[in-house]
Amino acid sequence: MDKARCASPTGRRNYSKAFPPLCSSNCLPPPTALSALYKPSLRYAILGAGFAGLSVAWHLLKQSSDDSRICIDIYDDAGIGGGASGASGGLLHPYSPKAKLLWRGSECWRECLDLLIIANRAVEARASSNAPQDSFCSFKERIVWKRGIIRPASQKNVDVLRENAQSFSESCYLELLDRSAAQYLVPDLCVPLDLAVYMPLAMNIHPKRYLQALFLACNDLAECEEREIYLFKESINSLHQLSEEYDAVVICLGAKVDKLPQLSGKLPLRTCRGVIAKLQLPSDLPGEYDHQRPSILSDAWLAFREPRSVLVGSTWDWNSKDYASSVSEEEASRAMEELMPKASAVYPPIRNWTFVEAQAGLRAMPPLTPYGSLPLLGCVDDIIGESVKCRYWLVGGLGSRGLLYHGFVGKLTAQAVLSSNESVLPSEFTQWKSISK
Ligand SMILES: Cc1cc2nc3c(=O)[nH]c(=O)nc-3n(C[C@H](O)[C@H](O)[C@H](O)COP(=O)(O)OP(=O)(O)OC[C@H]3O[C@@H](n4cnc5c(N)ncnc54)[C@H](O)[C@@H]3O)c2cc1C
Repeated sequence: MDKARCASPTGRRNYSKAFPPLCSSNCLPPPTALSALYKPSLRYAILGAGFAGLSVAWHLLKQSSDDSRICIDIYDDAGIGGGASGASGGLLHPYSPKAKLLWRGSECWRECLDLLIIANRAVEARASSNAPQDSFCSFKERIVWKRGIIRPASQKNVDVLRENAQSFSESCYLELLDRSAAQYLVPDLCVPLDLAVYMPLAMNIHPKRYLQALFLACNDLAECEEREIYLFKESINSLHQLSEEYDAVVICLGAKVDKLPQLSGKLPLRTCRGVIAKLQLPSDLPGEYDHQRPSILSDAWLAFREPRSVLVGSTWDWNSKDYASSVSEEEASRAMEELMPKASAVYPPIRNWTFVEAQAGLRAMPPLTPYGSLPLLGCVDDIIGESVKCRYWLVGGLGSRGLLYHGFVGKLTAQAVLSSNESVLPSEFTQWKSISK
């Protein structure tokens, strides 16, 4: 990419020391020629291009007033979806493992669907206009793999599952199935207690494709609203380096937030590494998984992506500090030993499938509250303790349900940032601050 053409307009960070932006809303003439034209009145930095960061970016662009010139710089040293988001299983539904509708689950579900539609549209618009494909997104590849998720009841949850399933979200409704109905959907599924919960509208998405498409959507919106958005593949090692340049900095660093010196050890987060195994059905064996069948949830989950390809997840290695998305041979074989008995207990034919590769990510797990394990939102100026003109906001602790939460928490956070008013955030999301003081 031509560095000069993509350099940012004057008045922003000195990018001569930074990496050039990977992608921007438009390719600009040299900064000097534009300094008179482009005077962004509000400058925001978003740290992290995972579910949280890109949702905040979209909502900042969407919600800012028509007459404000805003410029957003996103920083991610690993690029879009380089953290837990890109490594996630992409399973999406608003229920707990016991089929209880999560707190504000219906809103989270709707906001996430909205972003999926927006991302899909950005990709479709490019595909239909025959625009040249860029390295970020292939228009031919689907974002949503599969609709429907089924969870057979087990001894430990059967009663509570039956009871919780009575109150569901209309927009992602539940059905209780007996064994024969469940096995009509998935022949060979084990349904030992003659009960399974079926979520016909739940889905399994390809998280990296989705995030790449959402970034395209952000670019499109910025272009048509004459706003600016840039992505820098750059590591942020301290918040000091940003404070003079931005009106607000939104910290969406996932589990790595603890590496920032200003926040290290100050947030009530635990880490938990998860490994997912990709398996395939050898081409000479029968038993393809029909594309209309749902994904399966159990002690392990099975997200079938193609008739002969499936992701099986996930392990839970609490307090791990291993951020790597790559998985060693030894770690992969430990994960297989743990996952395969669980997966084959619910879907025995999986024993015929063979290991292809493994991927991993580190979850940032928030504390359990009376409302469940909620993401940590809010202004963190107090915690950072700096007296600067810029405000710092956190979108953290998305735990094991970041895909579900990201649309809703991104929307709320954008409202708080634009109005510089933390009280627009529901207190349930900011309560962690009073507890951790
Ligand atoms: C194995 C596994 C499976 C999962 N499956 C699901 C699922 O099926 N459904 C679901 O809803 N959730 C799932 N999750 C949880 C979900 O992935 C997380 O909740 C979510 O990804 C968190 O998003 P985030 O944007 O907060 O963090 P991240 O996705 O980790 O994003 C943080 C970004 O910040 C960047 N970054 C970090 N430090 C720096 C720095 N110093 N400078 C610059 N950039 C930096 C990283 O590269 C990364 O891209 C899963 C998680 C794991 C680990």
